[in-house]
Amino acid sequence: MATNPLIQADWLRPAIDFLFPPLCLGCSDFHEGDLDICNTCLNRIDKREHPVCLTCLGGLENSVECDICGDDAFPLLAYGEYVGPLKEVIISLKFRGLKSPAALFAQKAAEQFADAIAALKPQALVPIPLHPTREYFRGYNQAALFARELAGQLDLECDMSLIQRIKRRRPQSRMNLRSRTRNIQGVFSATSQSNEPRRLLLVDDVVTSGATIREVRRVLTGAGHTVVGVLAIAHVEGHNA
Ligand SMILES: [Zn+2]
Ligand SMILES: [Zn+2]
Repeated sequence: MATNPLIQADWLRPAIDFLFPPLCLGCSDFHEGDLDICNTCLNRIDKREHPVCLTCLGGLENSVECDICGDDAFPLLAYGEYVGPLKEVIISLKFRGLKSPAALFAQKAAEQFADAIAALKPQALVPIPLHPTREYFRGYNQAALFARELAGQLDLECDMSLIQRIKRRRPQSRMNLRSRTRNIQGVFSATSQSNEPRRLLLVDDVVTSGATIREVRRVLTGAGHTVVGVLAIAHVEGHNA
């Protein structure tokens, strides 16, 4: 689907930066440099040094396998906690039309999780699709922006052809995991049964309870693929109850 041209205003950015020097997205102060965030805020991000298992929330320090969950393990590689400056930057990426943080955090996440990604051996990245109507009005899918930047960093394909979002769902920010799981059922559909099964790493901007991620995994697994984990910019901690 074509994106809304009114929202595609990247060409205005140099002029806007000249007239209004950039403010840090984390602390709102003026700062030098090309990044959207100042060095102080970048250092204040609560980074995740290791992947966690999304099933039991245990840390996966030495491997991408979980001793507790075995085959049910689901490695989550999240660059940081969804708090402080990282939360502010993601809100700008998601709701204020500012796309440049996708490249910054793709580079950071690819560096931080180089060993874990190599151990998972993905053959392609799959961003979580937005509903086409929402993507049209936002002008882009922030998870896809992040995934495309990551694909460049990791020299992997970003495959958006395998799954689509066929239904809108009710907002789920106040729901618990069981309600979220029910709310997300039937929202995604695999585009076809795969003749060429692949190892896929899902990509999203923010992972909360993981209900969406698990549903996407279920649909892609049903189509014959193996989902090896999920890579995100941030994880909302304490939401797995
Ligand atoms: Zn700052
Ligand atoms: Zn586990």
